[in-house]
Amino acid sequence: MNRVRIPIALQQAVMRCLRDKLHLAHQHFTARFPEPKIVYQQRGTSAGTAWLHHWEIRLNPVLLIENQQSFIDQVVPHELAHLLVFHQFGRVPPHGKEWRWVMESVLQVSANRTHQFEVSSVQSKTFPYRCACQQHHLTVRRHNRVLRGESEYRCRQCGEMLRFLTNDNN
Ligand SMILES: [Zn+2]
Ligand SMILES: [Zn+2]
Repeated sequence: MNRVRIPIALQQAVMRCLRDKLHLAHQHFTARFPEPKIVYQQRGTSAGTAWLHHWEIRLNPVLLIENQQSFIDQVVPHELAHLLVFHQFGRVPPHGKEWRWVMESVLQVSANRTHQFEVSSVQSKTFPYRCACQQHHLTVRRHNRVLRGESEYRCRQCGEMLRFLTNDNN
C-alpha cells in the first residue's frame, strides 16, 4: 500500500483546530487534558475514529486532503468530543446526550453525527499504476487528474513516474 502524504499546512490546520477546541475544553472544565495524538491512518470510508484508551484520533488522509478545512472543522471536534466524553463520563452511548452536550456547549460546534463527504474515492475502487519497483493504487480522483493531464504522480521509493496499467497489460 502506498501511503498518502499530508501537506504540512494541512497538518498544521488540524493541530490549530485541535488546540483551539482543547482550549475551550480546558476553560469549560477548568481541567487540563493532554493533547491527543493525531494519526493519519484511518482507512475505508470512515472520516475518523477516537481511540479512547490511547487518547488518540485517527483521521482519514484521503478524505482530509479532498475536503480540507471542512473536514477539519467537522471531524476534529467530533472525535475530540468522544475523547472528552470518555474522560468525563466514562462509557456512555457514543453519540448520546453527553456527546451532544460536549459538542455544542463545550466545543461550540453543531452536533451532526455523521459527515457528508464525498467518499467515492475511498470506496474501494482504485486504478492500478506501475513504477520501476512496485504496483500502486490510485484513487478515482487521482486517476481522473492523470487522465485530464492535471497531475502526475511519482513513486516515493524509486522516484519514477507512475504509469497507468490498462487492462491489457494488467
Ligand atoms: Zn462519532
Ligand atoms: Zn517505485
